[in-house]
Amino acid sequence: MHDRFADGAQYIAGRLTHGTSARTHTVVDPATGTPVLTYRPAGPADVDAAVAAARAAFPAWAAATPAERSDTLHRFAAVLADRAEDLARAESLQCGKPLKLTREFDVPGTIDNAAFFAGAARHLQGQSAGEYSGDHTSYVRREPIGVVGSIAPWNYPLQMAAWKVLPAIAAGNTIVLKPAESTPLTSLMFAQAATEAGLPDGVLNIVTGTGPEAGEHLVAHPDVAMTSFTGSTAVGRRVAEIATSTLKRLHLELGGKAPFLVFDDADLEAAAHGAVAAALINTGQDCTAATRAYVQRPLHDAFVERTAALMETVRLGHPFAPGTDLGPLVSHAQRDRVAGFVDRARGYARVVTGGEAPQDDGLKDGAYYRPTLIVDAAQDSEAVQAEIFGPVLVVLPFDTDDEAVRLANDTPYGLAASAWTRDVYRANRATREIKAGCVWINDHIPIISEMPHGGYKASGFGKDMSAYSFEEYTQLKHVMFDNTATAAKDWHRTVFGDR
Ligand code: NAD
Repeated sequence: MHDRFADGAQYIAGRLTHGTSARTHTVVDPATGTPVLTYRPAGPADVDAAVAAARAAFPAWAAATPAERSDTLHRFAAVLADRAEDLARAESLQCGKPLKLTREFDVPGTIDNAAFFAGAARHLQGQSAGEYSGDHTSYVRREPIGVVGSIAPWNYPLQMAAWKVLPAIAAGNTIVLKPAESTPLTSLMFAQAATEAGLPDGVLNIVTGTGPEAGEHLVAHPDVAMTSFTGSTAVGRRVAEIATSTLKRLHLELGGKAPFLVFDDADLEAAAHGAVAAALINTGQDCTAATRAYVQRPLHDAFVERTAALMETVRLGHPFAPGTDLGPLVSHAQRDRVAGFVDRARGYARVVTGGEAPQDDGLKDGAYYRPTLIVDAAQDSEAVQAEIFGPVLVVLPFDTDDEAVRLANDTPYGLAASAWTRDVYRANRATREIKAGCVWINDHIPIISEMPHGGYKASGFGKDMSAYSFEEYTQLKHVMFDNTATAAKDWHRTVFGDR
């Protein structure tokens, strides 16, 4: 990676450059603890340069026809497809994701998003023009907003870059994206692919730096018209304060603590398989991961036994090794944070399986943690309320359907949820009454480019993916033409004179 990014880890106006921060930062392979790339992060001057490049590129890009923007995005999707294996390997290297996950989920999802927004660029929606007042013709223009400043987390660096960048540029905005400082590689490769596809210089810029040094400067920047942030709820609050003080449009995709409701008529085997996959995807570092399984009492013990048994079949291993199901967490610090939650839980709950870092050869130097299942935790305990962001599932019993819905809604978060039942009325009630931006029935995790992703409550507001996210990156203008051609218009009498 040092050769690939010898010219720096900032991407401004179509070129790699070195950052101007006084410090350096090292990207570390979490599977082994070995350094991958040491780079100089962005300081405020780099953010200023990136915003200036985006501002300079805005008029021409905003004036491009939808078909021209769409053509560029179609080419972008094709270049990403050509680079698929390279992107998958880089994403696995910096995040510790098993190659089968990056090959079958992160990278194809990103390519599909590019293809989707290539189509969406030509499909601007709004009310039809008409004579709504009788005396006027009204229509709406859907216009880009300007320079968007986006900040992304480390758990899905490539997909988060795609979710932020694609709707913004499809709608005619230009953008400065700040990936997490620990996982910048695929965001930079994404931007290089965009340039190769013909995206004009300055439309997409990447500043790789820390939150306090580069992120806050980007959010506060007077030439940035909109802030789009994905990350933790705590940092989202800080970002909101800064964005609000400079009156920016704000889009926040924040943390989650998804409930997983198993009713007594559910297919137990399907629910247990679903729980393991949904709790462990991306080593549990997924904002929609199943974290709290509420199981109706007649099924509770069998569910715990079967889910724990399935968890024990999951193969920990090096991300690039064939047969690996679960890689390390993104960093040793994140692994230790997760271990802290589990260790504290031992004081008020019971760990059924997992709860330790493996000491096997080949794993002990990496940021690995065994799949962990916890029972007997109280609803108000830390393990049930806080976002652990690791391979940890807590299972609790419930008795009535009312209680299930109440418990599902009883955290500050509202990003995603699932209900497992063969009863259509129960399923329908869950979809209606659970306060979350996505509710799955008899599955948990799949996403699709055509459908919106975004939170309720402390999980934020605004939608990623889908035509709804495209709307977030445009502003509506009402245009009104007088049709009477008269000097004394009827409505003027409310101000002066009689009819
Ligand atoms: P984080 O909030 O620590 O960091 C997210 C980004 O914000 C990083 O780029 C970081 O450098 C930057 N940042 C940190 N401090 C900042 C500041 N003061 N000002 C501006 N930027 C700052 O989150 P993380 O640990 O990287 O990612 C995990 C979190 O992201 C989890 O809470 C997860 O649920 C959430 N997430 C949410 C979604 C969603 O769609 N809702 C998707 C993925 C991840």
